[in-house]
Amino acid sequence: MAEYSGAVETARKQVAAAHAVLAGHRPSLYGCCSCGRHLPCSVALACARSSAHHTGILALLRPAG
Ligand SMILES: [Zn+2]
Repeated sequence: MAEYSGAVETARKQVAAAHAVLAGHRPSLYGCCSCGRHLPCSVALACARSSAHHTGILALLRPAG
C-alpha cells in the first residue's frame, strides 16, 4: 500500500488539525460554543465532519491500522 502513504499522511494531518481546532470549540454552560457562537457552532460542525471524513479514509486505507 506504499502508493497510499501520501494519502494516509494527508488524512492523518487533517484529523489532527480538526481535533486541534475542535479543542477551542466546546459547548459552554450558557448554550453557546466556547468560541462565542450559538450552538450548534458551524466551525465545530465543519471540523467534526472533516475529522469523520478523514477518519473514514484512514479506515479504508489502513483496515488493520
Ligand atoms: Zn465554536
